[in-house]
Amino acid sequence: MEKSTPFKIGVDIDDVLFPTADMIIEYYRQTYGVVVSQENFYSRDPAVWGVADYETAITRVSTFLHSEDFRHHAPIDGAVEGITALREAGAYLVPITGRDDTQRAATRESLDVFFQDMFDEDPIFTNYFNVVKCTKTKGDVCHELGVDYQIDDHVGHINSLAKYAIKGVLFGNYAWGRAQKTEGIVLPASHWLDVPEVILRHRKGIHGE
Ligand SMILES: [Mg+2]
Repeated sequence: MEKSTPFKIGVDIDDVLFPTADMIIEYYRQTYGVVVSQENFYSRDPAVWGVADYETAITRVSTFLHSEDFRHHAPIDGAVEGITALREAGAYLVPITGRDDTQRAATRESLDVFFQDMFDEDPIFTNYFNVVKCTKTKGDVCHELGVDYQIDDHVGHINSLAKYAIKGVLFGNYAWGRAQKTEGIVLPASHWLDVPEVILRHRKGIHGE
């Protein structure tokens, strides 16, 4: 692919670079014998998670998120190739995740194992799932960093880009990605194979390159 004007892309980690929800769902099924569907993955109803209170479910999931199995799980199909293609096209790439600060070391390790030297900056942690939530949205963070496109599976994050006119690449074909209406400039890409093409085609339309 040809090099072009520099442009910055934020890349979400969970369910974009790594199949986090599917890993958690599988771990939860194997460990606790409870089947949580993709539709219910973001549910805070304790019954969905087979527990008396939602905090117990969070603790269970958190144990897995700090395990070696989680850190060393392979990326989503095509993610390495997609990131490589974007780099070759001249993109400046930054991982921007809703993960919290307690996951810094584990996240760096996963990225080092599978995406070594492929990102231009260390990951940004927006602490979205923290009990004491970060008050900034992903849109706020992307705006501060001068991001042109954010690749994300979460419609809430995609919609937070709208007020800054940052382009959202809605990744994947997840139940939660279809459940909510999108706002702003949204480019759907159901597979990593489509991601570079979707972004580069959009840029071509803007810059006429
Ligand atoms: Mg995500």
